[in-house]
Amino acid sequence: RFITLEGGEGVGKSTLQMALATRLRDMGIEVVTTREPGGTPLAERIRELALRPPEDDAWTPMAEALLMNAARSDHLDKLIRPALAKGQWVISDRFSDSTRVYQSVKGGVSQEILLQIEASVIAETRPDLTLVLDAPKAATDARRTGRGAATDAFESRPDAFHEAVRSAFQALAQTDPGRCHLIDAGETAEQVAEAAWREIEPLLSA
Ligand code: C5P
Repeated sequence: RFITLEGGEGVGKSTLQMALATRLRDMGIEVVTTREPGGTPLAERIRELALRPPEDDAWTPMAEALLMNAARSDHLDKLIRPALAKGQWVISDRFSDSTRVYQSVKGGVSQEILLQIEASVIAETRPDLTLVLDAPKAATDARRTGRGAATDAFESRPDAFHEAVRSAFQALAQTDPGRCHLIDAGETAEQVAEAAWREIEPLLSA
């Protein structure tokens, strides 16, 4: 089974990932937890390149979209597909929906081209379930400050950017309701994990 966790920054994806992996492992299920961009040694190097260009330079939108997909291709071939083939569950903190959202919110590459690149890279390896963590920026700000991440480069982005990312994730969840489920990430970590678990349960018997 392939589960992806999506949403803006500071919504609690990694906390949820740990909670879900623990619960599945307690049931005797083998779980691989991973993240994007990254997840393999080479994809982690691309992550560093893509997310931290020198201060006086920036990737063009197309180059950034291709970097995200290059990282994803390596991640799929070397980690995700082999794990799924062994019957393990994979939970990824971000996957292709992040590229749909971030690269289209940042602009410069049409949705059509993004979807074409996505289709060539991920082919048949689509998530069985995508949990989209949704919370207003105020809630995520409090969480980030709480974990001492206030100096994170992404923090300095204007509220309008965060709102655009949030709306794009909400819209995405609406367009693919069979796969994507919106989870209210403004609740406590326990409540978020419970809500997520309710979406996972059907996969256990399928
Ligand atoms: O959630 P995480 O901290 O891993 O995300 C790091 C950042 O990477 C996000 O804030 C987002 O700006 C960026 N990102 C991106 N395009 C993607 C995935 C992540 O710009 N496809």
